[in-house]
Amino acid sequence: MTPAVLKDSYGRAIRDLRVSLTDRCNFRCFYCLPHGEPPIAPKEQMLSYEEIEYVSDIFVSLGIEKIRLTGGEPMMRRDIETIIGKLAALKPRLHDLALTTNGYFLPGRAAALKEAGLDRITISLDSLRPETFRRMTGVDVLARVLEGIAAARDAGLAPIKINAVIVRGHNDAEVADFARFAREHAVSMRFIEFMPLDSGHEWSRDDVVSGREIRAAIEERFALAPLPVRRGAETSARYRFADGAPGEIGIIAPVTEAFCGACSRIRLTADGQIRTCLFSTVEHSLRDVIRRSGATRSETVEYIESVVLKKEPRHYINDPDFLQPARTMSFIGG
Ligand code: SAM
Ligand code: SF4
Repeated sequence: MTPAVLKDSYGRAIRDLRVSLTDRCNFRCFYCLPHGEPPIAPKEQMLSYEEIEYVSDIFVSLGIEKIRLTGGEPMMRRDIETIIGKLAALKPRLHDLALTTNGYFLPGRAAALKEAGLDRITISLDSLRPETFRRMTGVDVLARVLEGIAAARDAGLAPIKINAVIVRGHNDAEVADFARFAREHAVSMRFIEFMPLDSGHEWSRDDVVSGREIRAAIEERFALAPLPVRRGAETSARYRFADGAPGEIGIIAPVTEAFCGACSRIRLTADGQIRTCLFSTVEHSLRDVIRRSGATRSETVEYIESVVLKKEPRHYINDPDFLQPARTMSFIGG
């Protein structure tokens, strides 16, 4: 039997599901949630762990190979190990179970995530300088996040990915320092262009440090060699250090070098809405479908397939009439 595959109307195979576990966050990153969360959806509108497990099983039966848990800050959801355990049970049909976190809760908890079945972790780290870290995230906890990274490594969650959103005038002078960090700690350092997904609506094109600039800043200090493109979607251009040092560099440039043609993602918000693009202006309520009395699994399958067909061909950030989506990264699930 040929393996199932979810295809959108442009022929893109959808292999990658991002599941937001909560809209809450204990950080106030200025490029995401500078003023804190607006009123959070009532608890009964949030998908329960049983519902997430149920729909994930369906997604996997439709060809999803990778699930990444995100948020908000996913580790703020109570007992996250339980949902990790439930999703880990979908392996080996599910190939990869990952988590993106701000790292704050990792000290003391990383080992339990690994034991529950988490394969990989991405930790956000916007600065190696305490004052810049505080200014960018709103919290003075750089040392604790570094401890979290060490805890993830000790727990065997390697290879660890580190995400840094590079914003002009904030942390752009640290790009080469981050590359050195990647070498010294043998991590994959991913540099992300600032996208118009901040709740403050303060994004400006002038603040975007392009992928090209980022690469040039690294190469002033360390020569890079491109890594081959992996099968399926590749959102980052990946490099190794030409001198053979450990660590990896990834440059994610959705603003200046859109990769929509290779996109294999869809997202599920914490309140059960499918989003077919980070920049979608419409959402599709999977929650309503699965909660309808008498709803069958095959109706849910049909609904998911019909929604995937509505996936947008590309984002419109660079069009003159671009409209920032109403929900921010913390609600969409970055
Ligand atoms: N709270 C977790 C964290 O910070 O890692 C997970 C959710 S967060 C929304 C996921 C990723 O989105 C983070 O790496 C964050 O830096 C990134 N992000 C948030 N807002 C962004 C923006 N406006 N542009 C680019 N990346 C952004
Ligand atoms: Fe919270 Fe992550 Fe958004 Fe920062 S990027 S405010 S840590 S959800």
